[in-house]
Amino acid sequence: MRPERQRFPFVTPINGELLRFHVRSRTDSRVSYVVDLGAFDFNGRCDCDDYVKGRKAMKLLRAGAEPSDSLRCWHLRQARNYLLDMEVLPKLAARINGNGKHHTREQRAALREGT
Ligand SMILES: [Zn+2]
Repeated sequence: MRPERQRFPFVTPINGELLRFHVRSRTDSRVSYVVDLGAFDFNGRCDCDDYVKGRKAMKLLRAGAEPSDSLRCWHLRQARNYLLDMEVLPKLAARINGNGKHHTREQRAALREGT
């Protein structure tokens, strides 16, 4: 598996907080935003301008809008993908396989080839 830094170079988990992340800006590497995936029934909340001002997502969510990707900025989607790809899905796959192990596509190919 590729290192997570390479797959998700903009996402940094916050120690001890499973649903909160720092996500760096794509346009200004000096800027990063705090993303909370648990907010608003798992829609999530980000402190970037796109989320707060551009889409007016907070206003809609506070008015009871259902969680939706249309109410998520790029930073929220990055953090969700990180959590799903790096944490949740590998653990589910290991449980489904029943052996506590999860093989990546590359590892499965290597196993098939007997290398
Ligand atoms: Zn954002």
